[in-house]
Amino acid sequence: MGDITEVTGMIISAMPVGEFDRRVVIITKERGKISAFAKGARRPNSPLMGITRAFVFGTFEVYEGRTSYNIRQANITQYFEGVITDLDAVCYACYFAEIADYYTRENADASEAINLLYASLSALIKPSLPDELIRYVYELRMIAINGECPDFFTCHHCGKEEEIDTYAAMDSGVYCADCHQLAKDGVRLSKSAVYTIQYILTAPIGKLFTFTVSDEVLAELRMVMNRLCIRTFDKVMKSKEMLP
Ligand SMILES: [Zn+2]
Repeated sequence: MGDITEVTGMIISAMPVGEFDRRVVIITKERGKISAFAKGARRPNSPLMGITRAFVFGTFEVYEGRTSYNIRQANITQYFEGVITDLDAVCYACYFAEIADYYTRENADASEAINLLYASLSALIKPSLPDELIRYVYELRMIAINGECPDFFTCHHCGKEEEIDTYAAMDSGVYCADCHQLAKDGVRLSKSAVYTIQYILTAPIGKLFTFTVSDEVLAELRMVMNRLCIRTFDKVMKSKEMLP
């Protein structure tokens, strides 16, 4: 048995292996994304049974085997029951997990990604926030964490920060009211939509899910995020098809 290490994080997927075992993918603060084997986790009386499924968050005691980590035990602090018992929320959570999987690597810092994922799943449980808004906040902030976000603060042409009113996916940027005719594929944005996008990019993660928006702003976010995600992700997320 290798050295035992404690890692803090969330299981983003769990898969049956063999007759009684499970393999899980955990995004951890300490070691980025790791794959871990949970021996006997599908035996009815296994202590690993309920703690090796998707979306549980806590600390995991693992040791390094020859090809992957092995889970010895775990102390789960959040089960996200409210997510897994709500079909729509599960679909969003799977989609968020797939994006997190896409962006994280072993031994790369994933602490911001895990904080965002945790905050987003917590937000899915709140009835006051529309799931679709949570989705756009998550997508945009995750793209920003990974350094792939367009500049939403200064005009692509003149550099002005005031009167931003157009997003241009092809230029990966925004235009002000004086320059927006230069945008070949511009999406016009209201002041509220620009403010919302800038807020999502700058607010502390703990403050991201404290607001809601009008249907008009939600529709603007939808247009921006559809374009931005297509341009940014170099694969189609499988779980996207399941979204309500
Ligand atoms: Zn301008």
